[in-house]
Amino acid sequence: MPELPEVEALAAYLRERAVGHTVDRFEVASFSALKTYDPAPSAVAGLPITGAGRHGKFLDVGLGDDLHLVVHLARAGWLHYRDSFKSPAPLKPGSGPIALRVRLDDGSGFDLTEAGTQKSLAAYLVRDPVTEVPGVSRLGPDALAVSLPEFTERIRGRKGQIKGVLTDQEVLAGIGNAYSDEILHAARLSPFALTGKLTDEQIVTLYEAMRAIETDAVERSVGQKAAELKGEKRAGMRVHARTGLPCPVCGDTVREVSFADKSLQYCPACQTGGKPLADRRLSKLVR
Ligand SMILES: [Zn+2]
Repeated sequence: MPELPEVEALAAYLRERAVGHTVDRFEVASFSALKTYDPAPSAVAGLPITGAGRHGKFLDVGLGDDLHLVVHLARAGWLHYRDSFKSPAPLKPGSGPIALRVRLDDGSGFDLTEAGTQKSLAAYLVRDPVTEVPGVSRLGPDALAVSLPEFTERIRGRKGQIKGVLTDQEVLAGIGNAYSDEILHAARLSPFALTGKLTDEQIVTLYEAMRAIETDAVERSVGQKAAELKGEKRAGMRVHARTGLPCPVCGDTVREVSFADKSLQYCPACQTGGKPLADRRLSKLVR
């Protein structure tokens, strides 16, 4: 799933490549992906792209004076920038991974795609993202903008396991499954540590780890083409998606806890006092 650094990089790429160009055509191939019906997709044609940014993990493309195309890429969504399109023919609805296509006046443009069968990419054509896109209205402060006092208050204010709290977009915006594994590894915290039991020192360490991991990932990602971002993301990971491989910090074997639809990775020596975490589905968990 694209997280804060990847969405930031996609926005930066659009600012460089698409801003200033006018939309020739906005094509909707997946009607379930576009969650709004007013304004109609046809209203986008002829409007200039005026900006690109993000709200947490939501991409926001400015159109003309007062419209925004806001996109949540979900788990398997992505943005593919095309220097040109093979065919001028409009997309056929309901076929293939392309959900939406934006064609620009210079012949280039971008596709918003979603792989797999579970379709959860969501796009909104709105005038005010903050009030009109429910997921954006509920976002907590951005992980890269939150101050230490506010971070402390928000983490302590939400009872639960730190892995879940850190990835709750209403607590903090932008952190997902992959970078939260990395942040907890850098902070030497168990993913199952309870927020109510964290010491002041642990909170400061966690805050600093979050800033360092996210800032570093943004720096490595911005400037990369959309097509290269996924490789860049994987290359920077120390524990995430590295089950069975050695921890680059201590050499212990990276382990995994799997859930119904996702998994987390961690290093026992760095994070849980050397004890492997029990799979919560099988036995009582270790904190
Ligand atoms: Zn380690």
